[in-house]
Amino acid sequence: MNLIKIDLKSIKKNPDAGQTMFQVAGRVHTEISFRGVTPQKLDKLDKIKVVSYSGNSRTGEVEVKAIGYGEYDDIMDELHKIKAKNIEIVQTRDVETVHSITPAPKYHFKYLNTKVECFECGVKIRREKIIEEDDCCRSYTICPNCREHDSFHFEFERISDALKRKGDV
Ligand SMILES: [Zn+2]
Repeated sequence: MNLIKIDLKSIKKNPDAGQTMFQVAGRVHTEISFRGVTPQKLDKLDKIKVVSYSGNSRTGEVEVKAIGYGEYDDIMDELHKIKAKNIEIVQTRDVETVHSITPAPKYHFKYLNTKVECFECGVKIRREKIIEEDDCCRSYTICPNCREHDSFHFEFERISDALKRKGDV
């Protein structure tokens, strides 16, 4: 059994250790206003939902307030297609709080890219070269040399053991 050791140099204290709440970037809101189109054209919009518009009886143009869905560039494309003028787009992004069941770990770390031996064909290859596959219920490895499944026996070192090696406990 090979032991894949933790790279001691890679161990870093996690500033968010123990936390179960995280702030992540949420949805983007896009508010749009523009002028200069006939009301009929507004029906052709796909990524833009009109909230309100008011017409100008003298010019036949309308002033529109709307909400956009999708990417900025796509929204601009649609506005250009209907020849909108005086376009203003304001995008804001929500911050969402995500709750995690498991608290954030105390440490971040990486494993060494140790060589391990395939017990089927005897080839020694770096751990990261081993092919990992998933079917519905379990994951398994494939030897890139002989295509055997689960032909490598290795374990990952626990962080508590790595900290002992480092003399950091
Ligand atoms: Zn093999």
